[in-house]
Amino acid sequence: MKIFKFGGASVKDAEAVKNVAEILRRFPDEKTLIVISAMGKITNALERLTDAFFYKKENAADVFAEIKKYHFDIIEKLFDDKSHEVYSDMHNTFVELEWAIEESPTHSYDHEYDQIVSMGEIISTKIVSAYLNKAGIKNQWLDVRDIVKTDNTYREGKVLWESTEELVRSYFNSTKASITITQGFLGATSENFTTTLGREGSDYTAAILAYCTDAENVTIWKDVPGVLNADPKWFDQTKLIDQLSFQDAIELSYYGATVIHPKTIKPLQNKNITLHVKSFIKPDEKGTVINNLQSQLPIPCFIFKINQVLVSISPKDFSFIVEENLSEIFNTFFEQGVKINTMLNSAISFSICVDNNERKIPELIKELQKKYRVLYNDNVEMVTIRYYDQATIDRVTIGKNVLLDVRSRYTVQMVMKNK
Ligand code: ASP
Ligand code: MG
Repeated sequence: MKIFKFGGASVKDAEAVKNVAEILRRFPDEKTLIVISAMGKITNALERLTDAFFYKKENAADVFAEIKKYHFDIIEKLFDDKSHEVYSDMHNTFVELEWAIEESPTHSYDHEYDQIVSMGEIISTKIVSAYLNKAGIKNQWLDVRDIVKTDNTYREGKVLWESTEELVRSYFNSTKASITITQGFLGATSENFTTTLGREGSDYTAAILAYCTDAENVTIWKDVPGVLNADPKWFDQTKLIDQLSFQDAIELSYYGATVIHPKTIKPLQNKNITLHVKSFIKPDEKGTVINNLQSQLPIPCFIFKINQVLVSISPKDFSFIVEENLSEIFNTFFEQGVKINTMLNSAISFSICVDNNERKIPELIKELQKKYRVLYNDNVEMVTIRYYDQATIDRVTIGKNVLLDVRSRYTVQMVMKNK
């Protein structure tokens, strides 16, 4: 079996959905499992809906209406026949969502978030599945919550691998469909509450299902030609990487390359399942192949992160930073849920670079200040260069003061501020 993943951009409007059908026509007679994300930027809109529902930040009914209209505009372009069952199916789905936000919240924010935000994938897969069936590409719609089981860490569900594997196997052993369409990003607890796997988690779903079905390969269809050596948002001369090892892919996504969700590689590496990243605009082009072939990349890869904070922590009495301090400091970061992007230790201070989360960082600093002297520098940026050389370092540091420089054999990380 092959697994295809289509992200939000690949189903963002009626034209895009039609293009998905065109891509699938290139692979007739193949057993395919298709994992789809919410359409366009609908997950963000559903996050707003959750905030409106939970915190009354804006009028929930307005946000709801906006989301409904967005989808019905697409449905109307895809289905001329107003009596097509997709219309009643979608009306019912939206009525359910409307009811959910009419009552007052009964669970935690994260729990309510998952019940609401998950609707983006439920809706997109129903529309795409119905359209493909109409277009002659016969497929079976599957509720992924019936097969991907997680614990109850809402918004960051941890996969329960044993039960998931069993359920996935039994579905695929019994289905006669050669094409199955299902949702990325979602799971369910043992009590059948919906969970999500973390933002941008649809790639991870594709990898989970590949692992459980021993898939031949996975293809992620994107609006870029494949994995590039830098984000075109920051660099104008990006290059396509033809071949990437699992190791490099994991390193790059760990450092923040957004092309693949960081959790995606491990399940694929564990079963040696090749991952293709290809363009849905130019499906004939080869894109990037990610597999276990070890090859050092011929070009440096850059990962930029803006809106960073550099925090320096030192004992109040000028004593050394010892293991006991480090363990306490790490524990504080862990408890406050703040991910460390890079760090460097000296005799009397410990420096850490983190994303500037307006909610978490002030809390973190307050907590650290109980025992340490804490200085911080916000509005800094961080660049990670894998396979660096001096020329590339010189290029990215023009006009910047480098506040922190952490190097290993293949990777350099620099925290910088504009001069
Ligand atoms: N729709 C979800 C998100 O935007 C999952 C995904 O796109 O991978 O985060
Ligand atoms: Mg997305």
